[in-house]
Amino acid sequence: MEILRTAAAMRQARARWRTPVGFVPTMGYLHRGHLSLVERARSENRQVAVSIFVNPAQFGPGEDFQRYPRDEQRDLGLLASAGAGAVFIPSADEMYPPGAVTWVEVAGPLAARLEGEMRPGHFRGVATIVAKLLNIVQPQRAYFGQKDAQQLLVVRRVVHDLHLPVEILAAPTVRDSDGLALSSRNVYLSPEERQQALALPRALSLAQELAASGERDADVLRRSMKECLLRAGLLIDYVSVADAETLAELETLNRPVLALAAVRAGSTRLIDNVSLET
Ligand code: AMP
Repeated sequence: MEILRTAAAMRQARARWRTPVGFVPTMGYLHRGHLSLVERARSENRQVAVSIFVNPAQFGPGEDFQRYPRDEQRDLGLLASAGAGAVFIPSADEMYPPGAVTWVEVAGPLAARLEGEMRPGHFRGVATIVAKLLNIVQPQRAYFGQKDAQQLLVVRRVVHDLHLPVEILAAPTVRDSDGLALSSRNVYLSPEERQQALALPRALSLAQELAASGERDADVLRRSMKECLLRAGLLIDYVSVADAETLAELETLNRPVLALAAVRAGSTRLIDNVSLET
């Protein structure tokens, strides 16, 4: 497994590879969710590149950039076992050289709602780093988790709007046995907070059950989810029942729908989503 720390070295390695190349961008501190993307990429491509970069531009002031968990040695071991061919681990200066002033700004409602509203500038950071990484690695396919549903939609938008020659593929959310979606941030949770956090997948399952049993009023779903989250003592950033493509809030479940929520357990922010049967 090659380890590359500069864009030039990554490009040189890439130029030697046989195609197709699959790419999995991550912020590291890898778990089975990340590894499921690597395995999928491996099964569909000749070579797989993974990036590990905690992107400062997608964290707001007061967010957890400094304390975001990092363990490069452990990540490299996991990626070698998962069969990655290369790991790109650039420094912040490598990705944002001094003097860099060019950004990918996703205008319009998709990036403005939900995470975009709670975390101003977040998707500008995501769109910019994804465009840079795709430009350096030049994969045929890039793999993203449905866990970050809005990020996936924003990335698809960027790739389409900038005519980037890459296919974006989505992989299902990997969960722990208790239902909590795997996230690098779960390590922040105390045992009590982790118990509380289980209300997040519970609330989403409740929305799925209501939709499956014929409930078509989106407000009923939002209210039930909120109740479930508040009862567990979680703070709610948002609860949404939205069009699966635009993330516009719905009144009636009459098209492909996602239920999404963002909550805080203590100082840890968690997001999750599920698709609803309609
Ligand atoms: P991150 O390191 O959190 O930026 O995530 C890197 C990629 O892994 C993103 O495409 C995420 O959507 C995806 N991912 C994160 N958690 C999970 C999970 N539990 N299941 C599947 N994919 C995930």
